[in-house]
Amino acid sequence: MSTHSAPVPPAPKHLVIIGAGPAGLTAAWENMRHGGTSTVLEGDTVVGGIARTAKHNGYRFDIGGHRFFTKVKEVDALWHEVLTKDFIRVPRQSRILYRRKFFAYPLKPFQAFFGLGPLESIRIFFSYLAARISPKSPEEDLETWVSNRFGKRLFQIFFKTYTEKVWGVPCTEIQAEWAAQRIRGLSLFRAVYNSFVKDKSIKTLIDEFDYPRLGPGQMWETFHANLEEAGSKVHMETLARKIHWKSGEGVTAVEAVKDGKAQLFTGDAFVSTMPMKELAEALEPPPPPNVLAAARRLRYRDFICVALMLKGEGFFTDNWVYIHSPEVHVGRVQNFNNWSKEMVPEPGITCLGLEYFCFESDPLWLKTDAELLELGKREIFETGLVPHGTPLVDGAVVRMKKTYPMYDPGYGEAVDELRAFLAKELPNLQLVGRNGMHKYNNQDHSMLTAMYAVRNLYGASHDLWAVNVDEDYHEELRETRSDKTLTTSAP
Ligand SMILES: Cc1cc2nc3c(=O)[nH]c(=O)nc-3n(C[C@H](O)[C@H](O)[C@H](O)COP(=O)(O)OP(=O)(O)OC[C@H]3O[C@@H](n4cnc5c(N)ncnc54)[C@H](O)[C@@H]3O)c2cc1C
Repeated sequence: MSTHSAPVPPAPKHLVIIGAGPAGLTAAWENMRHGGTSTVLEGDTVVGGIARTAKHNGYRFDIGGHRFFTKVKEVDALWHEVLTKDFIRVPRQSRILYRRKFFAYPLKPFQAFFGLGPLESIRIFFSYLAARISPKSPEEDLETWVSNRFGKRLFQIFFKTYTEKVWGVPCTEIQAEWAAQRIRGLSLFRAVYNSFVKDKSIKTLIDEFDYPRLGPGQMWETFHANLEEAGSKVHMETLARKIHWKSGEGVTAVEAVKDGKAQLFTGDAFVSTMPMKELAEALEPPPPPNVLAAARRLRYRDFICVALMLKGEGFFTDNWVYIHSPEVHVGRVQNFNNWSKEMVPEPGITCLGLEYFCFESDPLWLKTDAELLELGKREIFETGLVPHGTPLVDGAVVRMKKTYPMYDPGYGEAVDELRAFLAKELPNLQLVGRNGMHKYNNQDHSMLTAMYAVRNLYGASHDLWAVNVDEDYHEELRETRSDKTLTTSAP
């Protein structure tokens, strides 16, 4: 008789998960695969977090267009497992608009040079020459770093305005090192950089991508429905406001409120996708003052989407356009008709999403919906993307807080300090996702951290913080020099 017995798989666990965005729902899904059930607490009225699809009078639009593109095979497989037949393949086009002229994206140097007229070309040429002959030093900020490489004039036209619209700080206050290493997540910068500094291994930016026919929210609504069917529960409009913990024991319960009533949720382990700053502030008892101070120095960029439904179709062929013109506040314009025809309830109308990057303390954030719609209407005509006088048939405004965790000086030390405290005192809590880890993660990496966190509970030992580190911006397909085949794996 054999003395060997098969290893006993870990018992299924019950998890308490904060947030029903891509990361939170993926954590619940992964737990379901291991036979466990989850209680997901979602403060909002809809699932999907930043990757939701907003709905208004039959129109559907994203908080910024959400492409489903990834190098992570298991995430891609999961997307297709959940939305079996509902993906469409969308051709990609996106261009830069500057002073009513379109420029290719990625930028073509010759077009940039000649496309702005002879006078501007001369200015670009001489400022480039000046930068090459006497580059400025020290090269400490983004403005100097870029100007030294491309000349001041090209910097002003193709880097400065858009970068400052997105991040809300002057380029002189953005560290050069930060630009060189991290701003490449800001795809425009990388695209322009690549067009000048040729990396032969980069074949192309992706020219098509997957998209749920009813927008990204369709993915997260399907996740939600399937999870509930399998025995997990997503509590909507239930805001986690206190994380009770004991030293040496970790989290004991999450206290959440719905309709003014507080309830305690307990489980075998806890997963958080809420912003790190808010998590620290919710700890009960509060963490030591240095930890709280570190958390409170984390900053975020907020976002307003002004959706305009305009009479007519075919205004432009792009999925989205980067607006470099300094005269307008709008940073990017999405054309949802060019993502999926089903985003618009009837033909003959175009739904545009005007993206405004701001801080929640800005006057822009505090404007009424009517004022924002008026601003959007004025600016869309000013860009020249839509002819003046085109009738507006409907409009909607969505304000979304904390869309971009900011990588400002000192943020890394702050994250490390909070992480060290949580790892020591609350070992049964795992942080995943975008704001959950204060990391510039797209859906795929947000999901992967969630998958890994749950696998760790069942015996794996993944380092969640190694996901999406030093990985090149994932729009690029690289050609491996050895076999000359296109690969989508990380370089
Ligand atoms: C403009 C823009 C465009 C983007 N485009 C793409 C793209 O093309 N492709 C792509 O893959 N990714 C894209 N992303 C990134 C993508 O949106 C994120 O990676 C993803 O949404 C992160 O998922 P998450 O679950 O970590 O966080 P979130 O989406 O932020 O979800 C967190 C959830 O937690 C809830 N929550 C927070 N605090 C609490 C609390 N205290 N109690 C209860 N619930 C709480 C929130 O309401 C939210 O639903 C884009 C992001 C932006 C801003």
